[in-house]
Amino acid sequence: MDYLKNVDPQIHKALGDELNRERNTINLIASENFSPPEILQAQGSVMTNKYAEGYPEMRWYDGCEYVDIVEELAVERAKQLFGAEHVNVQPHSGTQANMAVYFAMLQAQDTILGMDLACGGHLSHGHPHSFSGKFFNVISYGVSKKDERIDYNEVEALAKKHKPKMILVGASAYPRIIDFVKFRQIADKVGAFVLADIAHIAGLVACGLHPTPVPYAEFVTTTTHKTLRGPRAGMIMCRREFATKIDAEVFPGIQGGPLMHVIAAKAVALQLAMSPEFKNYQKQVIANAKRLASELEQRGYRIVSGGTDNHLLLVDLRPKKITGKDAASALHAANIVVNKNLIPFDPQGAKLTSGLRLGTPAITTREMKEEQISQIACLIDGVISSPRDKKVIEATRQEVLKLTKDFPLYKEL
Ligand code: PLP
Repeated sequence: MDYLKNVDPQIHKALGDELNRERNTINLIASENFSPPEILQAQGSVMTNKYAEGYPEMRWYDGCEYVDIVEELAVERAKQLFGAEHVNVQPHSGTQANMAVYFAMLQAQDTILGMDLACGGHLSHGHPHSFSGKFFNVISYGVSKKDERIDYNEVEALAKKHKPKMILVGASAYPRIIDFVKFRQIADKVGAFVLADIAHIAGLVACGLHPTPVPYAEFVTTTTHKTLRGPRAGMIMCRREFATKIDAEVFPGIQGGPLMHVIAAKAVALQLAMSPEFKNYQKQVIANAKRLASELEQRGYRIVSGGTDNHLLLVDLRPKKITGKDAASALHAANIVVNKNLIPFDPQGAKLTSGLRLGTPAITTREMKEEQISQIACLIDGVISSPRDKKVIEATRQEVLKLTKDFPLYKEL
């Protein structure tokens, strides 16, 4: 880093400040994690220099002998980890993975059925501000008012009524197990493809801690940087029969040269995900999320759907008479980083919200366990109960600094 310091001190400083921010805050953003140093090393490598349009042994450029090794390893490891017939590791992001599947299989104005953003879905599943909502005729399903879980009867009724060409399943803010078999059965009744987007739960799926969609969905997309704990990127798995279409849509369809340094980092992440330590880590992620939900519930918060089965929980703040926006900014002042989130049937808009989404992948990477989670729940409650009390905020910040020092991050850097 000394070299960078001399050449570009401003960027060097921002990188150092970001490292300190990550070290000194409790990160409860459910979609984030800390990639281990070996992944940072692969991603910060000379493979950023290489153009490799095409696929291993079918490139449009010469000099691809080493990037081919990397991409082949990434593909083989992903196939093994998820039991997939075909894998494309080139998508730059989760959104681009979804875009490639849509554009490979659908025509403009085809109907897709996806989960509403307001009930936990993702922008790329048909939101009007996303390309997905602009190109396709989008029908949305939500969760039931009764238990805040996916209402499979509603999904089936909508599928029968609107005859979508593709049904999307997967979410950004859904704390419960998703029944992929039911989605397959519904899709079969109307002749639709199933695209399962496991961006959030990929690490759990890889370890068998959440049912896998791979046998039931023609297409499975994911990001590699959330529970999977790899570099920021995307990936597509599909049945063999769709391999050629999917590959051609990723390149040259929607992307140019693959980011080979990122693919190298993906390969490392996929290897790490096959280890017994990774499974123990994922078990702890779930145990920590369950503890956080029960601790907050005991303090008078309402947990959407009554709890969690995975790495995240949605907290309804209405009993505490504070919006998600105000709660998140008070917590931020105390070095606890979260995001405001709509809860199902939220009376507030997306800018204020009534909820927080809290996730445990990042703090579990720091090896925090149930004991620390109880402490964190207590800190969160203290701040949310007195969001404008500067003394409380500062005392909490000091507690956070002590805790983060006891669970250090990136000792190697
Ligand atoms: N799909 C789901 C379910 C997600 O939660 C996300 C990101 O949060 C994405 C796709 C998009 O990933 P990216 O930000 O890499 O485009």
